[in-house]
Amino acid sequence: MSTTRNLVALSAPEAAELVSPDSLVLLPVGAIEQHGPHLPLDTDALLAEAAAQALLDDPPPGVDLWTLPTLAYSTSSEHLFAAGTMSLSEETFLAVLDDLGRSVAALPARRLVILNGHGGNTALFRVACRRLRLQYGLLTFLVHPVLSADHGGPKGEDGEDGLGCHANCGETSLLLHLHPDRVHLERAVSNVPRWLADYDHVGLGGDVTFGWSAGDFGDSGVIGDPTRATPERGAELWAAILVELRAALVEVARFDFPASVLSGRR
Ligand SMILES: [Zn+2]
Repeated sequence: MSTTRNLVALSAPEAAELVSPDSLVLLPVGAIEQHGPHLPLDTDALLAEAAAQALLDDPPPGVDLWTLPTLAYSTSSEHLFAAGTMSLSEETFLAVLDDLGRSVAALPARRLVILNGHGGNTALFRVACRRLRLQYGLLTFLVHPVLSADHGGPKGEDGEDGLGCHANCGETSLLLHLHPDRVHLERAVSNVPRWLADYDHVGLGGDVTFGWSAGDFGDSGVIGDPTRATPERGAELWAAILVELRAALVEVARFDFPASVLSGRR
């Protein structure tokens, strides 16, 4: 039988009783950062929240899933050039993740899944996942409903030639589907960094990566072509994302290290 529940709606004794070593605790993380002239600052938080809610409403089969509230703030240093971006420093964010991980480890739960709504967090999440594994013995996982930015854009679609990765066609379409009242499509501008196609190795998501700010791509804050976004595209993308997400969590729920030698670790 599946259970998916809002962890913080429990009382403390209920949490101690109902959360078990087989439970999977989900931490959705967003970002508050510029998303061009047409999307709201909390776009990534909305996406993480929507994914978490969809999992609450329709849980993956056989997974004892408990969802934490969305952490809206994270590290968005690459967007600090624009007004409204609210970024935790890398050090602060890692400390927050350590604190939350320690708290999760104090439950009977062994598995923590970070649901990442902001591609720019990926490197820090990888550090945090390893630290939480070593420090508290948690099994830690990082899942991305929407791959973006540091991962490079989706290949061969949306007219972006794989070079759209922020406030782009895909992300804008998702918001048009999930929160149409928050999108001002008439303000959208296209800014596809086609010059990146001149490089075979160096690229966003390439085998040679580089340090960057969204301001390095121009003043619009957009990397991609949101003018092509449609709610229909968003609905299609969202359905595919949820299928993948549910399948990933089913796998996460049964993942373990068959021969771990970490002593004293759960
Ligand atoms: Zn975003």
